[in-house]
This record gives sequence, C-alpha cells and structure tokens, in this order.
Amino acid sequence: MYKFFSLLFFSTLFTFSSTISLQVLGSGGPESGDKRASSAYIIWIDGKNKVLIDFGGGASLRFEEVGAKIEDLDVILLTHLHVDHTADLPALLKSSFFTRASGNLHIYGPESNKFMPSTEDFIERLFENGNGAWQYLGDHLDGSARLQVKAHTIDESRNIKVIYHKHGIKISAVSVHHGIIPAIAYRVDVGNKSITFSGDMNGDYHTLETLALHSDILVAHNAVPKDAKGVATALHMRPNIIGHIAKQAQVKKLVLSHRMLRTLGRERETKKEVRKYYKGVVKFANDKSYYKVR
Ligand SMILES: [Zn+2]
Repeated sequence: MYKFFSLLFFSTLFTFSSTISLQVLGSGGPESGDKRASSAYIIWIDGKNKVLIDFGGGASLRFEEVGAKIEDLDVILLTHLHVDHTADLPALLKSSFFTRASGNLHIYGPESNKFMPSTEDFIERLFENGNGAWQYLGDHLDGSARLQVKAHTIDESRNIKVIYHKHGIKISAVSVHHGIIPAIAYRVDVGNKSITFSGDMNGDYHTLETLALHSDILVAHNAVPKDAKGVATALHMRPNIIGHIAKQAQVKKLVLSHRMLRTLGRERETKKEVRKYYKGVVKFANDKSYYKVR
C-alpha cells in the first residue's frame, strides 16, 4: 500500500513539475515561396519530443535541426491529411531504421469522407505490405520491425473526446470545419499545462473555443488576411475570428502560424484585427520558434 501511494505521489509530482514547451518546426502553408517548412510542431516534455502535431514538407529537416529524435516520440497528431500537414511522414518513418527507436508510435487523425481516406487507410495506402506506395516500409505495420506504427481514426464529433491518456500526457480532440475536408483540433495537457492546436479551420463549428479553454498556448492558423472572401474563408479563419476565439477561450498566449504569402507582411493589420477581441500575448511563429510554458 505504501509503495502504491508513494508511486502515485511521485508520478503526480513528476507531472506537475514537468517542463513543457512548444517548438514550431514548420510555420508555413503549402506554398513553396514562403521560405518556411509546412505545418509541424513539437511538444517537448522534460527535454524529450514526445508529441508531434502534423508533419508537412520540410518538417523532417527542421526535426533534425532542433535535435529531435524519433526514439523519443510517442504520438503524432494529424489535424487533417492535406499534403502540407503530412508530406514528410515517410521520411520520418524511414529515418527510424538508423536509430534505436522501438515500441509503438501512435498516429491519430480524422475519419474519411468522399474526398479523403481515413487516417488508418491513409497509413495503409502509404506503407502496407503488398499495396503501399512505400511497401518496403511495411514491416512497421506488420509487427516485424522494432518500431510499430499504430494508426487511429478519430470519428467526426463536435463533442470533445479524450483520445490518449498515458505517461501523464492527456490529448483531447474535436472536429473543426475546414471546407470539405475532415479536420481535427487537438489539446495536449501535461499536468496543469496545456497547448491547443487549431489546425486548418474556419471557425464554423464553434468547437475550438471550448477545447482551448484556459490553454497556456493556442496555436492558430493565420492562412488568410482580413479581407479574405469566398473559398478561402470556407477553409480558414480571418484574423478577427482568431481573436474572438482566443478571447472566448481566455488563452494565455496566442501563436499565429501557417503563415502564407497572403498574410506575410500584413502582421500589423492582422494583430489589430485580433486585438479587437483578444488582449493577451500575440506571437507570429517562425520555423524553430520556441515557447516555454510557464
Ligand atoms: Zn494547411
């Protein structure tokens, strides 16, 4: 009994005193002219890159540059399956061959619709023995390689669900509106610290406000400017919508990322729009930007 309580005490202590930080790997979108890697983020917990959110083009190089290691990774969260959020996954998986990475690497992402496969299907189409485009990496799915990929599909839901709770890391997910593409926003809680990721979305489902409530950091995607219209606003939040959500959620810090040619250079205008509602700290992300959660 004593052993049980002392274990409980120390694990609680460990969780509450953990140092947590956010590192941006890719602060850009799908364009090649933005001189940024596409969407990707690391959550460092006690110096280890435990959680990865998205892994778009260029993220693999940034992953190396910041000293991240695949053997330290537990979970990958895909906000949706567009190229600018997933393209470097095969490179990451292949790189594990040259490391001591082992055990299960969990990959979570959205369900299918007629435009997109489910996350489980997506991973199988990439890597499965006999079918996958890179079937030579199929041993990561069939139990034979040291590192095993476990893909999980998250069903569409406007109710927040806890999808992962292990080793003091709690991850919650909810559907967000990104045009016709199934998309998920995630919140990662470690002890009493939390970081929420909007992914690409336009705000129509009004789910992010609740998911992000009292987060230390909200990472929101600044893909369109104040005067955006039409298709762009069916896919992405205008800056005033980001500001409104950050205010409703009462987040401590707002990090604007997924910056594109149409928003780069318009930071002053964007911040002014955000400031109409949100009065807290606002940061514009660059590749490798690092934010410690205090
Ligand atoms: Zn995107």
